[in-house]
Amino acid sequence: MINRYTVIGQPIAHSLSPVVHQLFGDLTQRKVKYTRTEATPETFESIVLDWQRSGAKGCNITAPFKELAVTVCQRMAPNAKRAGSVNTIEMHRDGALVGHNTDGAGLVADIVVNKRRVLKDSRILLLGAGGAARGVIAPLLDAGPTMLHVANRTNAKADTLASLFSDMGPVSASGYEALGDMAAFDVMINATSLSLNGEMPPLPNGLVGSQTLAYDMTYAKQDTVFMSWSRSRGADTSSGLGMLVEQAAESFFIWEGVRPKTRMVYPRLRELLS
Ligand code: NDP
Repeated sequence: MINRYTVIGQPIAHSLSPVVHQLFGDLTQRKVKYTRTEATPETFESIVLDWQRSGAKGCNITAPFKELAVTVCQRMAPNAKRAGSVNTIEMHRDGALVGHNTDGAGLVADIVVNKRRVLKDSRILLLGAGGAARGVIAPLLDAGPTMLHVANRTNAKADTLASLFSDMGPVSASGYEALGDMAAFDVMINATSLSLNGEMPPLPNGLVGSQTLAYDMTYAKQDTVFMSWSRSRGADTSSGLGMLVEQAAESFFIWEGVRPKTRMVYPRLRELLS
């Protein structure tokens, strides 16, 4: 029997998730079929329910539906519940939809294990307060930074996130205009969707230096504008390809009960992106 999965988002054509999961299936000798599904806010819920009725085992959720996905789940894993953001839905035989969030685990694994960056006692800037940002705050705070600052176009959303996680560690929030007064960060993570349109957040120069890792959650064939801007100011840069692979491995483990060896899939993905 083939276990079927899909990734639901808008836009979705750029997603490499089908390739990653198909490679995981080959590596672990599991029969899986993984597709892409475009949705709108109006069609999202019915698409998830139709997918479940068709006998599928689960789906991933990407921008801009991670927060909306919370409303279709009957049960939530603690990480997704706290974040109010779901990127993985497990479709149980008893009919329940169980929401998980693997984004944070994927991001931290990529930064700490693959990029060999120490997050303990570091200063972290998180740009954006959407579904992806929500999912990564708890795991970033768990890593023990001295400061995690969330900056977002809509200040109120950043403030909400800072209060939601304030019992877990030193988290603060502002709009972009307040960043001009801040010293350079050790890690700056772009969790906005701006890179998908070739744009970047309005950042002052002093935020990055030679010690900074500028990490863009978006992955693309070329460096994003955010990566080029940061590199030209001396920062080390990374796209979100590693996060994609590591969060996918966590989802695969939830669905299939086996953890694929992620390093095996990078050569093929780099080939596809080159
Ligand atoms: P959401 O739509 O939930 O959030 C979008 C965020 O971008 C919000 O903070 C929003 O600000 C901000 N934003 C959008 N347009 C602008 C603008 N013109 N100016 C300033 N800020 C803007 O998306 P997600 O959080 O789900 O995803 C964000 C990005 O992260 C996507 O590109 C996604 O592909 C990527 N991602 C990558 C992953 C990976 O595995 N590599 C995993 C998860 C996400 P506001 O609140 O003010 O609207």
